[in-house]
Amino acid sequence: MVQQTTTRILLKISGEALNENEASAVAENSFDIDALNRTADKLIAIQSLGIQLAVVCGGGNIMRGSRPLGAQNQPAESASNSDVSLHRADADRIGMLSTIMNALALQSIIIAKGHAAKILSAIPVEGLVEGFNRYRANSALKENKILLLSGGLGQPYFTTDSTTVIRALELKCDYIVKATKVDGVYDCDPEKNPDAQHYAKLSFQTAIDKKLKIMDQTAFILAQEHDLKIAVLNFNAENPLKNLLNQTGKFTIISNENH
Ligand code: UDP
Repeated sequence: MVQQTTTRILLKISGEALNENEASAVAENSFDIDALNRTADKLIAIQSLGIQLAVVCGGGNIMRGSRPLGAQNQPAESASNSDVSLHRADADRIGMLSTIMNALALQSIIIAKGHAAKILSAIPVEGLVEGFNRYRANSALKENKILLLSGGLGQPYFTTDSTTVIRALELKCDYIVKATKVDGVYDCDPEKNPDAQHYAKLSFQTAIDKKLKIMDQTAFILAQEHDLKIAVLNFNAENPLKNLLNQTGKFTIISNENH
């Protein structure tokens, strides 16, 4: 049997990374071409390090089931002034389709830049995207295509955070990478508090107990149960994964080993 020796990463990209405009602009256009371009460049840079890269695409720039229509950037209680609302499961279905749209946009840009990208979706769309299965995903990774995983898990009441953990298990990824705007996890917001303490290592239990908003709790508990490793790092760095692979610089590793 051939052993898998190349590092395999499951990167979670939030929909917000694909549109950094203000809320008013989101209503007009869910994508921001500069943000798409930057994200595609980062993915290509990461892959150039010789790793196998799978990316779970979020959809929050278009629809989040828990914050449907008009409420993307507002508190939940001010979400609607109408008596009629979307059923959560329907909002979630739209959210899942949003992740497919994000994957299509990213694929288009990656291919335009001369690199290979393959989309698989938990919800196949005939003529657009093939259905996810482990064999297709493994083939694409071994062919060094940037694998864009879309459609979430295909079920409402989940998020792409849970999707990330489940796909990382299925594809035996070495790390889950949670891309953020800062270089890891702090005990409070480092952009607001200059004395914020950086964690180089963190246990799942501490992250869960402190309710650190890194991924949703369902995803965290699953990752803890299956002994995964989550790296939280700054996606704005020139090559976001270089430090992690070289074990230098600043990032946070969340695992069961760290107390
Ligand atoms: N979603 C879902 N099931 C899944 C994954 C996603 O119903 O398995 C829906 C859910 O409504 C979610 C939306 O798709 O809010 C977009 O995903 P997410 O909120 O995780 O995107 P992100 O916040 O990362 O951009």
